[in-house]
Amino acid sequence: MNTNDLQKFKVKLENTKKNLNEALRTFANKDPLVRGDWDTRYPEFKREEDPNVDMEEEASEVEAYVTRLPIEHSYELRIQAIDKALLKIADNTYGICLKCDKPIPLKRLEAYPEADKCLDCQKKFTTENS
Ligand SMILES: [Zn+2]
Repeated sequence: MNTNDLQKFKVKLENTKKNLNEALRTFANKDPLVRGDWDTRYPEFKREEDPNVDMEEEASEVEAYVTRLPIEHSYELRIQAIDKALLKIADNTYGICLKCDKPIPLKRLEAYPEADKCLDCQKKFTTENS
């Protein structure tokens, strides 16, 4: 891969990572003990202090929390994949399939810059692990 392409993917990856982190920050707290781990904020209820608290509002907040957990998880995984891809760029091994050592097609990297496998290997990998 040429330097221009590498630079392009690096910028793309860094921007995506920034966006994911910003999205996470809106509903989750960074875990100070585990690098790269986030904890979705659980709604805090002050029922004892306020007996008139709206039950319906509580329910929808819990619902929002439950919905956000898998989003948090998928964002975390994506950030991890991006970090790996960035290391590979630094290492000069970016864009090479982890399984078959062949170059991953640029088209695939453009759609999914953190890809570490070519489509064929990814398909096999997904089937084996499901
Ligand atoms: Zn492959």
